[in-house]
Amino acid sequence: MNKDRADERAMMVQSQIQSRGVKDLRVLRALEIVPRHLFVPEEFTRDAYCDHPIPIGHDQTISQPYIVAIMTELLVPQEGDNILEIGTGSGYQAAILATICGRVVSIERIPALADAARVSLQRAGVKNVSVFVADGTLGWPEMAPYDGIIITAATPSIPSPLIEQLAPGGRLVAPVGTTQIQELVRLTKNPEGILKERFDGVRFVPLIGKYGWRM
Ligand code: SAM
Repeated sequence: MNKDRADERAMMVQSQIQSRGVKDLRVLRALEIVPRHLFVPEEFTRDAYCDHPIPIGHDQTISQPYIVAIMTELLVPQEGDNILEIGTGSGYQAAILATICGRVVSIERIPALADAARVSLQRAGVKNVSVFVADGTLGWPEMAPYDGIIITAATPSIPSPLIEQLAPGGRLVAPVGTTQIQELVRLTKNPEGILKERFDGVRFVPLIGKYGWRM
């Protein structure tokens, strides 16, 4: 096995991501660069580039590569963007966004996952992600407004504090629905109001917090 596993990443991008219609070159490049195998638990490193989610402990998962790619593309990330992620998990989605954008603030409610994500981000050489432990449904007003907000857990509706923390022209992408099945939703904050668009069906673990699901 090649130590850097660049060949496996190139194959993953071609066969799982481009083949399903993701076109944004910055997104494709980020998936080719970020070493996903550094973000999965030791016992699953062999499966790091497979076409499915992987358990990361605490009943949570790192999403399937295609889902990371499509949600990143829907966010329309730009160089220099200030991004907020709710649900750090492994830190992989944050690393993908940090490769494209200026800064990523990522919020995780489980302290042990936040600690592990910080270690993985450091090992991967990603310096522009700040991970905080908190209820991400409240957002992170200290570093608002955000050009992009991504929720990587299933939410019954979009938490209102997140809409408030979105910059003019900002995009918010989230899986919205029940705890069993959701659809990807994108909100864009336009001068005329909030534009809402609906995309593919997905299945995420629940967003637990004041404006998500209650424990
Ligand atoms: N983005 C992650 C990655 O790249 O590995 C995958 C996220 S995982 C599917 C969902 C994460 O959301 C879990 O780590 C879970 O603990 C976290 N989570 C759930 N509710 C949350 C909340 N209110 N605030 C912050 N994190 C939350």
